[in-house]
Amino acid sequence: MELEGKVSLVSGSSRGIGRAIALILAEAGSDVVVNYVSNHSAAGEAVDAIRALGRRAIAVRGDVSKREECDALVRQALDAFGPVQILVNNAGITRDRSFLKLSPEQWNEVLTVNLDGPFNLTGKLLPHMVERRWGRVINITSIVGEMGNFGQANYAVSKGGLNAFTKTLAREVAQKGVTVNAVSPGFIETDMTAVVPAETLEMVRKLTPVGRLGKPEEVAIAVRFLASPLASFITGQVIGVNGGMYM
Ligand code: NAD
Repeated sequence: MELEGKVSLVSGSSRGIGRAIALILAEAGSDVVVNYVSNHSAAGEAVDAIRALGRRAIAVRGDVSKREECDALVRQALDAFGPVQILVNNAGITRDRSFLKLSPEQWNEVLTVNLDGPFNLTGKLLPHMVERRWGRVINITSIVGEMGNFGQANYAVSKGGLNAFTKTLAREVAQKGVTVNAVSPGFIETDMTAVVPAETLEMVRKLTPVGRLGKPEEVAIAVRFLASPLASFITGQVIGVNGGMYM
């Protein structure tokens, strides 16, 4: 129960990796704000699962790419539970096309969710963490941001950019009690990879030393570790959770 008394906000946590993170932070003792963009009932189920663990939870709708929706999301979080000490920027999307076919809309859509989203939420919550001299910002990036990937110029840039944001912010707030880290998953079994062709996934398995895709819970455990008060000397790091696919 190392996060007892803490409040966490996890963007995009009605399903997949975000949901697993919301649940593991609750298991560690934190109250949780579950953010979702469209699936109200899935967000409600995540909230029920957290409450069943004995923690407080609310679901708040909000598109992280829109500043005014982030304002409302943060306001509702603060009204419900007070200052948020742990922010997990998890919400992310893909719009895959090889670069020669990639439209400006597909480029912008990915960057506004995957990069502007963390900018919006971190900008609103970091001042509270700095003021209280304790906080954790954990950004969910991707192996693709480190290696690049065919058909994912927009996504790779967004995640590589988020890694750079992580390191810069870590330097800026290191002496204010706030750590900033990234968790960089490899290929994980969620809705995001459910649309990847079977032969591509087979190739991924062959290229992964562990020989399989990861599970959302295997990413969430790294987030729990970084959120812990015991991880106070770890900042500006990109922690790979990828079965050894990239070392
Ligand atoms: P997912 O598609 O199951 O979940 C993404 C979540 O983000 C959903 O809940 C979705 O509603 C939410 N979301 C999307 N746009 C949003 C917006 N504008 N505002 C608020 N929420 C929004 O995918 P996932 O695999 O669980 O992905 C979670 C994170 O992990 C993403 O950042 C993704 O890039 C990253 N990631 C996933 C994998 C993988 O293999 N699944 C690998 C590396 C990184």
